[in-house]
Amino acid sequence: MMNPQTPIEKLPGIGRYFSQKLRRLEIKTVEDLIYHLPFRYDDFSKIEKIQNVAPGEKLSVHGVVWQIKNIRTPRGKFVTTATVADQSGAIDIIWFNQPFLTKNIKSGMQISLSGKVEIKGNHLQLISPAYEIIRHSNLKMENSTLHTGRLVPIYPETEGVSSKWIRAKIAQIFPSYLKSVKDFIPNKIVPHQKFLDLKEALYKIHFPKNYQEVERARHRLSFDELFLLQFLALMRKKDRQETKIAHKMKIDIPKINNFVKKLPFKLTSAQLKATKEILSDMQREIPTNRLLEGDVGSGKTVVAAIAAYVAYLNGFDTLLAAPTEILAFQHQKTLEDILSPLGMKVGIWTGSKKIKGHITCGTHALLLSYKDERQIGLVVVDEQHRFGVAQRAKLFLGQAKDLTPHLLTMTATPIPRTLALTLYGDLDLSVLDEMPAGRQKIATYVVPNYKRADAYKFIEKQIANKRQAFIITPFVEPSETMLSVKAATDEFEKLKTKFSSKIKLGLLHGRLKSKEKEKIIKEFREGKIDILVATPVVEVGIDVPNAVVMMIESAERFGLAQLHQLRGRVGRGKYQSYCLLFTDSRAENSLRRLKSMEKIHVGFELAEIDLKMRGPGEVFGLKQSGFVNLKIADLSDQKMISQAQSEAKKLIEEDWQLTKYPLLANKLSRFQSELAQPN
Ligand code: ADP
Ligand code: MG
Repeated sequence: MMNPQTPIEKLPGIGRYFSQKLRRLEIKTVEDLIYHLPFRYDDFSKIEKIQNVAPGEKLSVHGVVWQIKNIRTPRGKFVTTATVADQSGAIDIIWFNQPFLTKNIKSGMQISLSGKVEIKGNHLQLISPAYEIIRHSNLKMENSTLHTGRLVPIYPETEGVSSKWIRAKIAQIFPSYLKSVKDFIPNKIVPHQKFLDLKEALYKIHFPKNYQEVERARHRLSFDELFLLQFLALMRKKDRQETKIAHKMKIDIPKINNFVKKLPFKLTSAQLKATKEILSDMQREIPTNRLLEGDVGSGKTVVAAIAAYVAYLNGFDTLLAAPTEILAFQHQKTLEDILSPLGMKVGIWTGSKKIKGHITCGTHALLLSYKDERQIGLVVVDEQHRFGVAQRAKLFLGQAKDLTPHLLTMTATPIPRTLALTLYGDLDLSVLDEMPAGRQKIATYVVPNYKRADAYKFIEKQIANKRQAFIITPFVEPSETMLSVKAATDEFEKLKTKFSSKIKLGLLHGRLKSKEKEKIIKEFREGKIDILVATPVVEVGIDVPNAVVMMIESAERFGLAQLHQLRGRVGRGKYQSYCLLFTDSRAENSLRRLKSMEKIHVGFELAEIDLKMRGPGEVFGLKQSGFVNLKIADLSDQKMISQAQSEAKKLIEEDWQLTKYPLLANKLSRFQSELAQPN
């Protein structure tokens, strides 16, 4: 018997071959496949009599195949031509380079065709339409066709797994899936909010009769996601408050003042305010759970350093988790400069080097293997633009002792406050909304393709002046696959030919061993590499004051917050710096969005723009920008967010441990592990 958790390879006709491909779409179970949702639909719902078809229309026709044959063009290409007729008339069909079609489609068959009608000479043709042979059995179904003659769903695809394939599989498993699925949203919420029930919503998202049905289905499924998201956050908060105890830290004000005075700069008032908020949290026995938000360069590290110093004065150690090893090493170096004069030992915990200190820096993953002999009093998670909600939770379990450490999460993603509350309702928020004095604006330009050569010349000129540059290669896939590494390598080779041979280029991508990465970064820092070419996914969290140009390919594919973050890699020294955004896109919206980078230099404002400009259809874009791994919900839908929030709050009050709602408890734990998937 199939259930939602049945591994996908157990289904007939899938096996290892397809299950490996499906993994790339994050589909591992039957439920994952059912929740692989269409991102748009082709509207072929209009079934037209052949005599009524008109050029330019997107439509479907149903008829009988009169004849079908392959022709070879003088250039050796295959063209398949067919004639299909219904009671009203006949129409010509043409397919290119699919000679195998004559094996599937035979004259006399009933067929459904969907596509665009074109006019050739004086008669009408359907060019390369989707087709579907109508067999007796599926005529009985409510929707007699799957790939034609309806709103045809288009799914995220991967090589070897087309939307057509996905449609067929979903149709095949849907009836038995429906038998095993149960609605996990408590009974009283669904009718109260006038939602479709879960089965209906899932059916309608894959097999809608019209767009209204799609909308209602999306509505229900979006609610689910937002509800789960907020319930999780509230549950974590409740759990921390009710069941966890932290050490009440004493704050030695004179010592802290002395430390602050010795810093080579004066703290901004935003830094002072955030520091006060964090220290007052640490004085309580409820474990701190605070998010420190601040643009790149706003000075978050020193705030964390002060908190670590407080822990140290109380006899506790601190762990600092960075998103990459590169950043872990960088943190170690920075912290050593400011903390070792105070007698603190700064350690590092990476694949190759393991030295414990009063504060120990490592990656999120590596710190899971840290064995704490001394009690950890504070954990600092530097997430840059990634948010591993569940990752953070995991880090925690790894350190579970009698006392729970205080937790400070730092991020450079300028998430608007409302959004932060939605995603991280369990966190308190401190914001560094002020940059240290004297920071320069980075001159930013959206560069059209025809000015590419000029841009390369500009970079050469900067290098002639002994400066350095970053080039971010085109965005191929949202993760570091072999494909994207190959694309980056190709791009790298191409770039080499664009610059004079005296200029040294280095390539950095996520598939390099960490030793190699370190070597390249070191060479860049020492000026032995002039241009650091990096993939979009690689964390270029490198502080090189001499780098003055950040050039980004396919800029339209990034979220603005992400672009802002990349831009923040230059302008770290005293030299005027530049950000060049390349794009092939001619879409007006896309250009307008990018253009806002030229004028706006505050991360928060850029993030707001991104949220507003990306409609409900763009959730995948949101995913890319690293906010959170949601499948369908629109994070700018305030109304839905507050609806979900109030239902979640009610349920938390009633039964926060979900003893009465095992289905929901079960769903939540799966949802949580999905959120933790790297995106
Ligand atoms: P981020 O918030 O991006 O992590 P960092 O903590 O790395 O920023 O700080 C960026 C740079 O700014 C560092 O070189 C740091 O020493 C410096 N810095 C931090 N606070 C101040 C300040 N108040 N005035 C001047 N420079 C500062
Ligand atoms: Mg930082």
